[in-house]
Amino acid sequence: MTTVTYICPECEAETVVEYTGAMPGKLDGPPEKCYPPEDASIDPRYCSNCDRFIDMGAVESELPEPDYDDAAEDARNWADDN
Ligand SMILES: [Zn+2]
Repeated sequence: MTTVTYICPECEAETVVEYTGAMPGKLDGPPEKCYPPEDASIDPRYCSNCDRFIDMGAVESELPEPDYDDAAEDARNWADDN
């Protein structure tokens, strides 16, 4: 989960939005270890000031770089050191 400060295009109020990325789910194997895929979600869904629907695309565009970039960087650093 990531927190993004969303600025409402309607009223320019700032809303702190919790963004949860999509999960691929697991649909094979023992039923007790399966779970359904989940779409990305945001909370809250509406501007706290004017109740305008929050644009998930705009929230996603504000997300920090995903972690896998750091992992790739670490791998490159490791390669340089060895
Ligand atoms: Zn608003």
